[in-house]
Amino acid sequence: MEKDFHREFTKCPQCGSEDRFFEQLANVAKERGLARKEWEFHLQMSEGIVVDPAKAEGALIGSEAPGFGIMTDVCMECGCIYAIDLTRIDKKKSLPSAQPIPHGKSQKGRPLINPFSVS
Ligand SMILES: [Zn+2]
Repeated sequence: MEKDFHREFTKCPQCGSEDRFFEQLANVAKERGLARKEWEFHLQMSEGIVVDPAKAEGALIGSEAPGFGIMTDVCMECGCIYAIDLTRIDKKKSLPSAQPIPHGKSQKGRPLINPFSVS
């Protein structure tokens, strides 16, 4: 598998339908202004690494472990649950105390005000 493996599946592998339950549910919520337009909804979204936790502890800082990202949804025609997005995300081991601060947020979780922001 390549390091930047990424594949999207836009049709149900069982029946070929493109109607997905959570995706359409999200569209209804977006139309009613109950959800943000850029949000994506899925049955399941998970991320992780495929490493024995005992071995991960002894790994060097900065070493990479093969990680995955997967999103699934449900076909509205036949009920088949299938992956709609598979991504390989290699994770670098970081210092345990280093907590990443989300982009655009202050340490207390409040959005930072950028005086040069145009929007
Ligand atoms: Zn289907």
